[in-house]
Amino acid sequence: DAEAPAVLPRPRRLLLLLNPFGGRGRALQWCQSHVLPMMAEAGISFNLVQTERANHARELVTGISLAEWDGIVTLSGDGLLFEVVNGLMERRDWAAALRMPLGILPCGSGNALAGAVNFHAGLPPALGVELLQNCAVLLCHGALSPLDLVSVTTASGARCFSFLSVAWGFVSDVDIESEKYRHMGAARFTLGTAVRLAALHTYRGRLSYLPAPEPPPGPPPRRPVARSVTAPGPLPPPPAPLPRAVSDLGLCPEPEPEAPRSLPGTPEEPPPGDLEALAEAPGEAPWPGDAAGTPGDAPPPGDAPGGPVDDLLVPLGQPVPPSWVTLEGDFVLVLALYQTHLGAELLAAPRARFDEGVIHLCYVRAGVSRAALARLLLAMARGAPWGRGCPQLGRVPARAFRLEPLTPRGVLTVDGERVEYGPLQAQIHRGLARLLTG
Ligand code: ADP
Ligand code: MG
Repeated sequence: DAEAPAVLPRPRRLLLLLNPFGGRGRALQWCQSHVLPMMAEAGISFNLVQTERANHARELVTGISLAEWDGIVTLSGDGLLFEVVNGLMERRDWAAALRMPLGILPCGSGNALAGAVNFHAGLPPALGVELLQNCAVLLCHGALSPLDLVSVTTASGARCFSFLSVAWGFVSDVDIESEKYRHMGAARFTLGTAVRLAALHTYRGRLSYLPAPEPPPGPPPRRPVARSVTAPGPLPPPPAPLPRAVSDLGLCPEPEPEAPRSLPGTPEEPPPGDLEALAEAPGEAPWPGDAAGTPGDAPPPGDAPGGPVDDLLVPLGQPVPPSWVTLEGDFVLVLALYQTHLGAELLAAPRARFDEGVIHLCYVRAGVSRAALARLLLAMARGAPWGRGCPQLGRVPARAFRLEPLTPRGVLTVDGERVEYGPLQAQIHRGLARLLTG
């Protein structure tokens, strides 16, 4: 009689999606040197697919068989995970698809979610390969956290799902303009910020929001401090580590560089040499042209096509409900953030959690000095409390918001990706997705 085969735990199977052009174009090299050996050691099997164009990953995940995978992991910046989330939401079985564990391995220039994962694990701030290694170890541990998603509806009625941010004004301008410094990696944001500070714009608009209960006062809960991570840690004994296949789908030609957009010059102001120097400058008078500004959870996901119902929102053409607060005036920036980090090392909302169901809404009104804005950004970059003594800054927890730009031209981004410019509104759906956080 033949013996029954021993039942071995099935190795975890991950679908790795890699954007060869993310960040400085080092994703494949970093993956081969830092990620794949660790996964092999942890007994994780995987398929590696290189994206050939924008939206490739999005299309791919709309068609995969969910049962074949234990997780989908992107190797790029935040933009590629945004594609994956929205591809899953396009499926008829979106509710089941969102149970799929999602992971992020930072190989882009904008790696905010990876920064948040690193932070929540209690690790010191990291960038580049160090951040990638930390995240790879955490991913191998395999622990999951529910992840809030924010449903964003734009003027045309299109809806997308966001895990990070909606930005207008200074932040979205830096994000999009700095695309042309992509070869610099994360430094692109520093340069983009300096350029934008030299030619600060203000935008007229209306911001309305449904307040969320204020968090209890006091400092944010302290993170456990772990010095570093070096090994995948306690894992079941690995079965023979045999990656299934590495499908190299080839490279596509370098994307067309965007035509540089001209920035209105401010000849009377010297360009800010560096942010530190600027931040040290004494308070400046507001520059000309700046007028002072004037002032529930979703139903359980069903299988209705197109994602959960936005029960807190009324159509964009109708006035917001009476329980909402509306501010109108000139803004330097409006930022809705639902993660701790705005960049890998920009700790913008230290109280944020992956699944607290809160949008951290932040706005800076016209009249802020360049020095004050530079100080604010530097404090974020140091992980220090920021924004004290800046009267133009407002921060409110919200469940939903509506943003109506009144300035005819500008840039709006969702998770760092440009979306159509015009009125938009959004509401948070608590813990709708699942993130591999270690
Ligand atoms: P980064 O942080 O470097 O911007 P992202 O992950 O945000 O990295 O990716 C930037 C953009 O590249 C996203 O809009 C994504 O859709 C797009 N993209 C993904 N794969 C490719 C590819 N193979 N070629 C060109 N663009 C791509
Ligand atoms: Mg990006």
